[in-house]
Amino acid sequence: MLFTDVIRRKRDGGELTDEQIQFFVDGLADESIPAEQVSALAMAVVFNSMTFDEAAKLTLAMASSGTVLEWQDLRLDGPVVDKHSTGGVGDKVSFMLAPIAAACGCYVPMISGRGLGHTGGTTDKAESIPGYNTAPDFATFRRVVKDVGCAIIGQTSDLAPADRRLYAIRDITATVESVPLITASILSKKIAAGLDALVMDVKVGSGAFMKTPDRARKLSESIIRTAAMAELKTHVLITDMNEVLGRTAGNALEIAESLRYLRNEEREARLDEVVLGLCAEMLVVTGVETDRDAARVKCDAAVTSGKALEVFGRMVTALGGPHDFVDNSSKYLAAAPIVRPVHANGYLAGINTRGVGNAIIELGGGRHQVGEALDLSVGFSDIAAIGTKLDTGRPLAVVHASSEDSARAAEAGLLAACAFAEEVPQERPVIHELVS
Ligand code: URA
Repeated sequence: MLFTDVIRRKRDGGELTDEQIQFFVDGLADESIPAEQVSALAMAVVFNSMTFDEAAKLTLAMASSGTVLEWQDLRLDGPVVDKHSTGGVGDKVSFMLAPIAAACGCYVPMISGRGLGHTGGTTDKAESIPGYNTAPDFATFRRVVKDVGCAIIGQTSDLAPADRRLYAIRDITATVESVPLITASILSKKIAAGLDALVMDVKVGSGAFMKTPDRARKLSESIIRTAAMAELKTHVLITDMNEVLGRTAGNALEIAESLRYLRNEEREARLDEVVLGLCAEMLVVTGVETDRDAARVKCDAAVTSGKALEVFGRMVTALGGPHDFVDNSSKYLAAAPIVRPVHANGYLAGINTRGVGNAIIELGGGRHQVGEALDLSVGFSDIAAIGTKLDTGRPLAVVHASSEDSARAAEAGLLAACAFAEEVPQERPVIHELVS
């Protein structure tokens, strides 16, 4: 088979055959199809999309391109469930949700991603914790999930290797924003992880890959329908990404905020809403709880009782991090040399969240190219929520930078991404919709 014929068919709006999709996935995994051809096909899919059958075939073929995990032999006394987000700015939810769900009786083998485009990556954030191994072997991963209840690690080369290569190529060729490609990318990894159930956080807004509620709904339906084909029960929450989630954006800064949340010291309202909403849905989709409100109360209690914090601490230690990380995190998290407020006046009326993500890339906290090393200390903290009255006493945010030049550029980038008004803007809900 000639791969140029496959590209041509999709370029001209045709439907790929099962054989052509399998040929593509094999060529991704064994690298026999060069990156130029992969990106040409990805761009043709962005323009001409795929039918449901094509996307489902692509998903299943990518899921079986490597190891498929099994959990039955561990005889776990709870369901194996995960949450995945389509990606946002300041999205640190996993660090709270995984230990809360584990404290409520679930097992969460969370295989997370690195930053993609302007969005931050859970794997990168986890690497702010010195010694924390985001790439353990499968035996260690399984042991930590069994003993602790959750383990947040990075994507391994054995699990859905076809997606790993496609994801990296899409990241640098502006071909992320496609419903079938996002569906196949996310679900191939989740199916290969051998889950009983999945909860998806589909983000919508200026900092999301899905910019409109219509597109977000389309992606949610595509994910639920495709997951059902693989008998993976999936519920989706569509959540707002028109502002940074929580008060921080940047790798180590987000770990610090997650700890403040788990210590029950500071739980920013929108972040809290998303964490508890998704976590409660994990209990409902698995049948651990039948009532959503009761599930939410249970998740909240896991935080207020300190149980989730204890699980987080055990996960960090089991994966090689410091045994006293939870108590002495400031001793371990990298701190930037320049820390100063960014001032503005008026009510904060709107944020182009993609602009904030791009400012973090310019600070060195995100990547221009695959494999680039990150400065984990940089980013923004104390980010004002939309509707906050800003003045000399209440800055827009605090910038954390490694140099004067990068601090100045990040301040300018942040200010350009924000809109200000004289009137209080209307409040917007953070959870838009549940799709199940
Ligand atoms: N997250 C993924 O894992 N894949 C995508 O394509 C987008 C978000």
